[in-house]
Amino acid sequence: MTGATIAQRYAALRAEVDRVAAQAGRDPSSVRILAVTKGHPASAVHEAVAAGIADVGENYLQEARAKLAGVAARKHFIGHVQTNKAKAIVAAFDVVQSVDRVDAARVLARAAESLGKRLPVLVQLNISPVERYGVPLDAARELAEQVRAQPALRLDGVMAIGPVERSDVERAFERAREAFGLIGGETLSLGMSGDWREAVRAGSTMIRLGTALFGPRPAHR
Ligand SMILES: *Cc1c(COP(=O)(O)O)cnc(C)c1O
Repeated sequence: MTGATIAQRYAALRAEVDRVAAQAGRDPSSVRILAVTKGHPASAVHEAVAAGIADVGENYLQEARAKLAGVAARKHFIGHVQTNKAKAIVAAFDVVQSVDRVDAARVLARAAESLGKRLPVLVQLNISPVERYGVPLDAARELAEQVRAQPALRLDGVMAIGPVERSDVERAFERAREAFGLIGGETLSLGMSGDWREAVRAGSTMIRLGTALFGPRPAHR
């Protein structure tokens, strides 16, 4: 797909996602594609939205602020929630997928309240030994209850980053799916460019694609 436009890559990926979903006995329309635009310029975001992508995700507040302003898509924060940035995150994004501790839930709730919003959030699970963030599976239900106790937050499901080790992916995704079943909500945000097929087979309703849509990210500054 090198040299293809973002619209062409998106169309090809969408068709492939539909095929993998159907093969797994799933309704293809139950799998959404979130375009992860970190590291790519604002022009890439605009191309993606023009190609029909309705959901975009960013990891860093500062980078997202300028790039996502005025973009007609649902904006998902998928990075680490720093408590001192909660208010700015709530102001700039429509959904926060990365609530992994009570502290983060509390500050986001306070920020949402003060901005007169009810913020949809996902609980981020840790299903990988090398991943720094995410709530351990055995503490996920308790965190979910604490999120539900915040009237300014709406718990919509779970998010997780898969393990690096390929042979661990299916088992880890299965555990995420089980946790999603216990926690509830509409969204299981699972799968990235390297493991979205396994994620779709495991029941993901939202795959988060950066590299597959936009190509490799330019090296970090
Ligand atoms: C960067 C990132 C992605 C996208 O990664 P790719 O491998 O480029 O698709 C998805 N989810 C999270 C949380 C990320 O940080």
